[in-house]
Amino acid sequence: MLVLDSVENVQEMIRMWRKDGDVIGFVPTMGFLHDGHLSLVRAAKSQCERAVVSIFVNPTQFGPGEDLDAYPRDMEHDVALLEKEGVDLVFAPKPETMYARDHSTVVIVQGLSHVLAGEHRPTHFAGVTSVVAKLFNIVRPDKSYFGQKDFQQVKIIERMVRDLNFRTQVIMMPIVREPDGLAMSSRNTYLTPEQRRQALILSQSVKWAEKTHAAGETDVQKIITTVTQMIRAAGPDLEIKYVTVVNPKTLEPVAKVGRGAVLLIEVYVGKTRLYDNVIF
Ligand code: AMP
Repeated sequence: MLVLDSVENVQEMIRMWRKDGDVIGFVPTMGFLHDGHLSLVRAAKSQCERAVVSIFVNPTQFGPGEDLDAYPRDMEHDVALLEKEGVDLVFAPKPETMYARDHSTVVIVQGLSHVLAGEHRPTHFAGVTSVVAKLFNIVRPDKSYFGQKDFQQVKIIERMVRDLNFRTQVIMMPIVREPDGLAMSSRNTYLTPEQRRQALILSQSVKWAEKTHAAGETDVQKIITTVTQMIRAAGPDLEIKYVTVVNPKTLEPVAKVGRGAVLLIEVYVGKTRLYDNVIF
């Protein structure tokens, strides 16, 4: 497995693989890998001749006062995990490699980037789309893999790919959970045992909504109200940012829970931001 930090070396390697006709699969990450990340890697491995993973804690997607410095990192462990999965190339650039001191270009997906999580993190998704656009240009993947846990992010990237004619197929993979239901996240390490216990209500309420909908409930307000109450009752450390049911394409609230509508939840547990969702 190659571990490279230079853009030119990655491009050179990819050029050779493309010349051989290899299909290239790509998984962008911020590292501190868990089984959620590895599910994307395994999909890339099984569907492509070459699997490329990037590890880059992208400074431009963290707002002022957010957890950029505290974000967990363990490069050695990540590299060992990826080696075991049979990944071909890890791109782990330094921030100064990705961003020239006078870099001045930003990719913004209007609208979708400023609702939901974008409302209280106004520059976050511009950071995500800008870095993913750069990574797509460096790796030129045929297929790229993203997790449903970050549903809004996937929808924004799909829109960017369409609007800017990137030649990659965006593939969304299901949420991987801990045995007790909590969606895996690098940020789960921030949780105290008590917060970890309270956080379980996210997956429990999502599961409740899924079951209720499967039993015939289509009243959006009823589902939102019950989920909200369940979370409010679950502990003093929980702060709801939103509980909403949206159209998967527009991310606008829907009036009725139809097939494909998505329940999206964002909750702060203490200072830790957690997401969960279900596609009905
Ligand atoms: P991150 O390192 O948090 O930027 O995540 C890298 C990719 O892994 C993103 O596409 C995430 O949506 C995805 N991912 C993170 N957690 C999970 C999970 N629990 N299940 C599936 N995919 C995930």
